[in-house]
Amino acid sequence: MNFMFNKNLDKSLLAIYNILCDDRGGSMIIDLKKVFVNEGFSLPIEYELDMSKEEFSGVFPLITPVKFNGTVSNKASLVGLNAQITYDYSADCDRCGKQVVHSHSIVVEKDLAPSIEGEENERIILVPDMKLDLGQLVFTEVVTSLPMKHLCDENCKGLCPKCGKNLNEGDCGCPKKEIDPRLQALADLLK
Ligand SMILES: [Zn+2]
Ligand SMILES: [Zn+2]
Repeated sequence: MNFMFNKNLDKSLLAIYNILCDDRGGSMIIDLKKVFVNEGFSLPIEYELDMSKEEFSGVFPLITPVKFNGTVSNKASLVGLNAQITYDYSADCDRCGKQVVHSHSIVVEKDLAPSIEGEENERIILVPDMKLDLGQLVFTEVVTSLPMKHLCDENCKGLCPKCGKNLNEGDCGCPKKEIDPRLQALADLLK
């Protein structure tokens, strides 16, 4: 279960992942024996994983199926996986609350090995019996790449702390800064 993780991965995230994987997450076993025994052989793989029922921080952000597009190939008896995973992430902007969808793309480059000799390495995926659980791989890659911040725009102005108006739609007219009460007293005197 832990073969795809390296020691640097946040432990809390790993814990979440283990819980999710017990009864959620996908399972899609791909038999790679043909690739392992045939030097020069390439196997293109297209796969979609529905993660729309996966909850993250109280929301269900993966509204469309996650797409996997890749190739497993045997080059000089080294079996490697090159793939791209794309998904749409829908969530409310952290500053203004507007719902926005962003597309994310992850490049996955791994070496596949039926057993590991020597040091464990985050680049290596262990595939016992030459079988890869692609569903689990995609699930893990997506979960570990979910954005921590979500903004409708880098320059989102957010909401006015006083009146709650979305400042991207224009100024609300509230005073920009709290006036120092001593200055306010002075201003009152000068009226
Ligand atoms: Zn915003
Ligand atoms: Zn305001």
